Amino acid sequence: MRQRGIETILEHAEQFVRDRLATAEPANDGKQTPMRNHPVFIAQHATGTCCRGCLSKWHHIAKGRELTDDEVAYVVAVLERWLRLQDV
Ligand SMILES: [Zn+2]
Repeated sequence: MRQRGIETILEHAEQFVRDRLATAEPANDGKQTPMRNHPVFIAQHATGTCCRGCLSKWHHIAKGRELTDDEVAYVVAVLERWLRLQDV
């Protein structure tokens, strides 16, 4: 993967996590992450970071409260590790 490519993708990843996952009660939780159209969406389904149910089940991050900055950084790091293993 080209260096500038992954940096841009990771900026999108943080934006998606903050906009779609980080609030206490995300809109359409469980269905807020499309199955395609952005490498981060694919990565979220592959890593169990697509919704708060999956974050709770796979990453033991409790539902019903806002994510902390550390948790947002953790999710982005999980996505980064997966994306760097792919040729996206
Ligand atoms: Zn999910």
